[in-house]
Amino acid sequence: MPSISITSQFDAGAIDVVSLSDPQDIQLRLRPDIAAPFAQWFYFRLQGARGQALRLRFLDMDKSAYPAGWQNYGMAVSHDRQDWFRVPTRYDGSTLQVEFTPDSNDVWCAYFEPYSHERHLDFIGYCGNDDDVETEALGVSVEGRDLTLLKITSHTSEVPLAARKKVWLIARQHPGESMAEWAAEGFVERLLDKSDSLSQALLEQCVFHVVPRMNPDGAVRGNLRTNINGADLNREWENPTPERSPEVFLVREKMLAVGVDLFIDAHGDETLPYNFVAGCEGVPNYTKRHAAQEEVFKQAWLASCPDFQTEYGYPKNAPGQANLKMATAWTGNHFRCVAFTVEMPFKDNAARPDAVTGWNGERSKALGASLLFPMWAVVGQMRSEMPDVRAFAFDGDAAEVN
Ligand code: ZN
Repeated sequence: MPSISITSQFDAGAIDVVSLSDPQDIQLRLRPDIAAPFAQWFYFRLQGARGQALRLRFLDMDKSAYPAGWQNYGMAVSHDRQDWFRVPTRYDGSTLQVEFTPDSNDVWCAYFEPYSHERHLDFIGYCGNDDDVETEALGVSVEGRDLTLLKITSHTSEVPLAARKKVWLIARQHPGESMAEWAAEGFVERLLDKSDSLSQALLEQCVFHVVPRMNPDGAVRGNLRTNINGADLNREWENPTPERSPEVFLVREKMLAVGVDLFIDAHGDETLPYNFVAGCEGVPNYTKRHAAQEEVFKQAWLASCPDFQTEYGYPKNAPGQANLKMATAWTGNHFRCVAFTVEMPFKDNAARPDAVTGWNGERSKALGASLLFPMWAVVGQMRSEMPDVRAFAFDGDAAEVN
């Protein structure tokens, strides 16, 4: 019988092996982010255990970033890195235990279905071939990885570029939240579907700005929450610097140059088994008009997507109590626009559970695609009150700038 090995030296890999000597007591420990203490994400390859009953024990899980995330959690497992399924776990308040028997010699285990850097680059390449897309290099991350902006609008629409609404969607500030990038892929893929009238109508009236991978270093290094400097990007929005958080600095500069009429920031939540949004009710510039637009968006999403709900979510911020270091609050406040953090579950959607897959990449893609209708519902009401917003320059040298 071959000996069992566990490795994680690959894109997004992360685990510490404590003991491999007994297949019935394989002991593991989460590896924290590279420069910060957050531990929750894991991704490793287990070889040499085909047909063997295994018991994995993840130790000290009470010291992880979100211990409640281990209750009713199923580990994501794949034999081919394409199809991922869930294996039930048991959590006793300290140790997470997983028992399973691999069908093949090679098995991949992760906190959630990964979204690789190569897939990201493939997707950017696919988008760049579309007449309605222009890719723009905003700059690079701390470790030199590209931060790519996808600008998407109809190249045949008669609506002047300056008059089109500026819709922004960013994803994966928190690199362990791979569902966010799956959702961004689904969103863009639908926008580029020429047979989808909703996509085409939106592209005539809006310019979409999509940054599908905000934290490329953290994603490749297998971090949960931070970039390579240990910065939680979603706490950097008030005063980002090119040294500590260039990822936020570059995107924010572009937003200030282009303007924002609607903003979505895609995330995953470790604990709550639901899809939900958090809005801007706590920001200083919040108005009744802002609240009404948020409500239109939520009602339209509820009416068109059974995976979305408003019963479960984060407690609402009291007026004036929002944390303006966060992307949604800073953007909604600065541009006085509808801005939502979209949260998807690491576990499953308890309202529509799937015992085989849990919440996964494909379902996240479908949720991302479903954002088009609530956007359509508010598109006529979206209006930035920024007085000095430059017109969108879509075509490089043929730019209309006023
Ligand atoms: Zn997040």
